[in-house]
Amino acid sequence: IPDTIVVEVNRWMANSELYIDVLIPLPLDGPFTYRVPEELKVRADVGRRVLVPFGKKIRAGFIAAVSDSAPQDHEIKDVLDIPDEPPYVSPPLWSFLSWMAEYYMLPWGLVLRTALPPGSDRKSKSWAIITREGLTSEECSFPASFVKARVMLRKDLEGLIGPAQVEQAVSRGWINLEERIARPRISLKRKEIPELLYGRSENPKDRESIPTLTGDQAVAVEQMKTAIVAGGFHAFLLFGVTGSGKTEVYLRLIQEVIDRKKKALVLVPEIALTPQLARRFLRRVQGKVGIFHSGLTPSQRLDEWRRVKAGKVDVAIAARSGIFLPMDDLGLIIVDEEHDPSYKQEDSCPYNARDMALARGKLESACVVLGSATPSFESFLNARHGKITRIELPVRYHGGALPQVELVDLRESKSIKKAFLTPTLLESIRQTLEQGEQVVLFLNRRGFDTFAQCNSCGHVFKCPNCDISLTHHKRARDLRCHLCGFSRAAPPLCPQCAGEKLFFGGVGTQKVEEELQTVFPEARTGRLDRDSTRKREELGRILDRFRKREIDILVGTQMIVKGHDFPGIGLVGVLCGDTSLHFPDFRAAERTFQILAQVAGRTGRGSDSGRVLLQTYDPEHEVIRFAASHEYTGFFEYDAQMRQELYYPPFGHLILIRVEGNSEKRVENKALEIGRAARMVKQEFPAVSILGPAPSPRKKMVGRFRWQLLFKSANRSDVRGLVKQLKSGDHLQSRGLKIVIDVDPVDL
Ligand code: ADP
Ligand code: ZN
Repeated sequence: IPDTIVVEVNRWMANSELYIDVLIPLPLDGPFTYRVPEELKVRADVGRRVLVPFGKKIRAGFIAAVSDSAPQDHEIKDVLDIPDEPPYVSPPLWSFLSWMAEYYMLPWGLVLRTALPPGSDRKSKSWAIITREGLTSEECSFPASFVKARVMLRKDLEGLIGPAQVEQAVSRGWINLEERIARPRISLKRKEIPELLYGRSENPKDRESIPTLTGDQAVAVEQMKTAIVAGGFHAFLLFGVTGSGKTEVYLRLIQEVIDRKKKALVLVPEIALTPQLARRFLRRVQGKVGIFHSGLTPSQRLDEWRRVKAGKVDVAIAARSGIFLPMDDLGLIIVDEEHDPSYKQEDSCPYNARDMALARGKLESACVVLGSATPSFESFLNARHGKITRIELPVRYHGGALPQVELVDLRESKSIKKAFLTPTLLESIRQTLEQGEQVVLFLNRRGFDTFAQCNSCGHVFKCPNCDISLTHHKRARDLRCHLCGFSRAAPPLCPQCAGEKLFFGGVGTQKVEEELQTVFPEARTGRLDRDSTRKREELGRILDRFRKREIDILVGTQMIVKGHDFPGIGLVGVLCGDTSLHFPDFRAAERTFQILAQVAGRTGRGSDSGRVLLQTYDPEHEVIRFAASHEYTGFFEYDAQMRQELYYPPFGHLILIRVEGNSEKRVENKALEIGRAARMVKQEFPAVSILGPAPSPRKKMVGRFRWQLLFKSANRSDVRGLVKQLKSGDHLQSRGLKIVIDVDPVDL
């Protein structure tokens, strides 16, 4: 062993045995116990990555606990290696992940698998990447642990440490050269993918000149800078209307953090949708910018993870999974458009990156800035309660007023074409096109939503218990509440106006585009929705064409709403502003308000203010009125009342349990069983209400049937207590069925 190895003082008595519990990043419960050989004891700390024999394979796992007594019952194998120096997962990041697993009641392995890049758990090519850190260190020392590790070396390693040294290391038995694999080439396909999405700017040349801050911006920056300088956790809600210059504020804060030799993390809803934002960061930030998006291949992800880990990224811009990036010395976390539902991950590892930003900020002693023009109720209430500091940017930078929103009553338009194209809207489109300006038409729709609405008066059927829209079930021809299970037959006539035309669900964007092409054959139309942009490149292309004014009318879904900044838009048309109001979700009003405010914010970004037409069946509806007049606080007061009464978040706490499986009967039976068990447990937690079991709104997804139960209470510890107790029994386990616990669910 070379003498450059520092022998640390071993806190474990020599000769005493040391055992560790190891978590393997697989959705297994674990942990598994191993013995630590003498020479590895110095590194056997909680959170460290270890290499262990697992079945017939060698796997990497993480140390969950250290102990000096062995479990009695079975044969215990030895740890092969504890390779990483510094640790693969830093102690604060480890604390964060532990906290998250506990909070969301998720199996540890699942959290690790979600949080860490692919390959962290395998002895593979990727494994070699990590061991390289040990081999390339300046003093060229080989950690003692390599004696035991079987290391894969890749060709480029030889370049770094020299073939002679490799040979020497091999001949002395420090490393075991098992295989030599050429470094996999990362194909960037730059022509197909907007280049900046892979952005790495280290020496950008065309820096923008730095603008002078407005008074409001300066006050905001000053207040947050003070917190950054002071160090420690501090959370802010940057509540600024669309176009008020929040991004400029972010840029200043990021620079401050970088100048203090710390790192910043910026979360954005979906990077592909905000290439302009990315571009602005690349141009402005004096430091190394890393941009991460979900389109990275596994090996690219691992590469980026390593760059971040090695401290080579000063500011990372990422979608929700960026919350797991291994930045040490994190000084600032920004969550842009913090209200955006895409921060919530839905599948088997549900978490909310916005909430986790606060948790991580706390554990890393970093500042957290949540920015939005339409804050989530959670954040707004937190600010009211003084848990986070609210800072406002009440006016738009360009001084322009927020656009006037004109309401169009859909009930009065006798001649609506199927696609919500009213005469008023068509006339406005015509005028806008004549003036050489662009049109954005927005249709809010989720494929599976099938609420029932009267075509004549706009009446929507609601659950008497839950105050959410009933869902139409085609086969059974009835209307059901998917939360509590209430059901009624679908009536032939509207109970409000006796109209005969009830419709279920809505129109699609494709239909709208087709109709438009017949009405305006000379106009160039484009469409932006999940279908038209299945390929990432396509999305960039459409947005690019729109920016270059090669598209006159852009029709789209929610994707259109995100922070694009196009100066040429003269008209924004909301085809049916009520649609999302009737989603069977207690957040329907909040979402609708947010979406309408954001859509309206798309126009008037240049010097002249644009027009916004908001079509609705219910122009008197409070949400529509508040949205049209841009009154966030008024809207909050209005909607908070209903939520407070029914203990919906943020005034109460929810946990959802969903059962999924291939057999409808088994899923239903299991859900019923959980329901019965839950009602027994409830006796200890009388303050918790149990809604369901009932079929999920998406009651079938990718061929799997879904049922769910919702637990609700004013008090967080009550709901958690009930579900934890339920979990400790065996009711939440079942072979062949998937049972998901979703703490703080968003998509009910
Ligand atoms: P937000 O993120 O709040 O919607 P932006 O940061 O995108 O707003 O700002 C809106 C517009 O105003 C952008 O075009 C931006 O360049 C411009 N802007 C904002 N602040 C300033 C400033 N201090 N000086 C010059 N231009 C600014
Ligand atoms: Zn109900």
